[in-house]
Amino acid sequence: MESNENILIVDDDESICKTLSFIFNKKGYNVETVGTGHEALEIAQQKSFNLALLDIQLPDVTGIELLVPLKKLHFDMELIMMTAFSSYESVVRALNEGASGYITKPLNLDDTLNKIDKIFERQHLIADKKNLERDLQYQGMLVENVSDAIISTDINLNIKSWNKAAEIMYGWKSNEIIGKPMSEIIPEEVHKAQNEEVREHIFEKGFWKGEILQKKKDNSLINIFSSATLIKNNAGKIQGVVVINQDITERKKSEVELRKMMKDLKTSNNELEQFAYVASHDLQEPLRMVASFTQLLQDRYKDKLDEDANDFINYAVDGATRMQNLITDLLIFSRVGSRGKPFKKVDMNGILGVVQTNLMRHIKETDSVITNDLLPVIEADETQMIQLFQNLISNAIKFRSDENPLIHVSGEIQKSKWIFTIRDNGIGIDNQFFDRIFVIFQRLHRKSDYGGTGIGLAVCKKIVQRHGGKIWVDSELGKGSTFHFSIKKKPQKRNFVS
Ligand code: ADP
Repeated sequence: MESNENILIVDDDESICKTLSFIFNKKGYNVETVGTGHEALEIAQQKSFNLALLDIQLPDVTGIELLVPLKKLHFDMELIMMTAFSSYESVVRALNEGASGYITKPLNLDDTLNKIDKIFERQHLIADKKNLERDLQYQGMLVENVSDAIISTDINLNIKSWNKAAEIMYGWKSNEIIGKPMSEIIPEEVHKAQNEEVREHIFEKGFWKGEILQKKKDNSLINIFSSATLIKNNAGKIQGVVVINQDITERKKSEVELRKMMKDLKTSNNELEQFAYVASHDLQEPLRMVASFTQLLQDRYKDKLDEDANDFINYAVDGATRMQNLITDLLIFSRVGSRGKPFKKVDMNGILGVVQTNLMRHIKETDSVITNDLLPVIEADETQMIQLFQNLISNAIKFRSDENPLIHVSGEIQKSKWIFTIRDNGIGIDNQFFDRIFVIFQRLHRKSDYGGTGIGLAVCKKIVQRHGGKIWVDSELGKGSTFHFSIKKKPQKRNFVS
């Protein structure tokens, strides 16, 4: 492995250079040797060294004269003097000029190696300490700058540290709160028992996580998501607790608002549904009167009135009939949500059979051919499944092209839902209308071309939504349409008014 320790040996005695290089290299250290002060400075400019061994007497300068310029180049470099005579003054001078130590010649190789190892050991310790300090400083910075309140306490739950986010969250400055008990931020409202429960959980299990109500310095309340962890030392002795708290007051508020909005929306939807139901239900009777009497007028006075009067009566009969159809369809639409039946096992092959019987006359008249794959048994509202298939199949017949209608029904089981497909070879739909056709009263054709009220697909959508599914169409003008709908498996139980 490549070593990180670089040693520079500055000595004009080649045998010393060689010997030292040999033993240092063996230890795995990298060594450079030079014979003069001039060369030493040159190489130190190009490369950094952890350590230099300097002969006190070099051909061009004394080793002591090299100390200051070398230190200037590498502040951290350890400088060791090698001296042939232990002259007290020169050693003191060298130490004063920045040398970290000295060794005497002739060199005792074991001692020298020992000394060098110790120096490197010390250097590593210093580097580790520096790294640790940097890490701690970084962690401190993190704690100060995160948006969560980080609070630590001692074993009695007295506050020991309080970061900037905690100051902002609770309004207490750290110097005001440190030393005070955690109960300063627990409101009276939080039942004592709950507080005890949390404390017990932390000390027994080592942690606690959850939502809790706390108070600020001004006694206002805040919703907190808190996670508390018990802190132990290496010997397993409890030191205290570290708590990380998040202010979730705003989130809670919007959750409450959202819930209220949903409730209001549900109420107003129910009211609307109720209104549509009552209106269409109650309108039926007077409408029936208008329709039957205008019909009577038409039958009885057909030949007794002039041409104009006949036309007027025809318009009135036509209008009343259309209105009756509209009201009936609206009633069906309003009943989907409020008058639905509980879900039960429904064999969709049987449903298709019922629909074919219901539409038998229509199928015969148009020479329609309906084919199907084996369909699954599902959990659904049976009546609504009949309505769904009937609307889609009667549309497939109604919106036929010049060819005889060919309609194919298939169904597949997926992990969490069933998907059904009704494919026809009819007139098709422009893709810009793919969403619009499912909206109530939206139609793409004139009444004179294709009859209808524009409610059929809106009813389908409502039924499918009640079954936790979706309905959509794939189509191309002139090339037929494919309607798909999904039904969710195991729908949630709902309460229905029957
Ligand atoms: P209605 O059939 O009373 O018009 P629907 O809600 O059932 O009302 O359908 C809305 C519109 O969607 C129809 O007017 C028609 O333009 C289009 N549509 C529905 N089904 C088909 C289909 N199978 N092929 C082509 N167009 C269709």
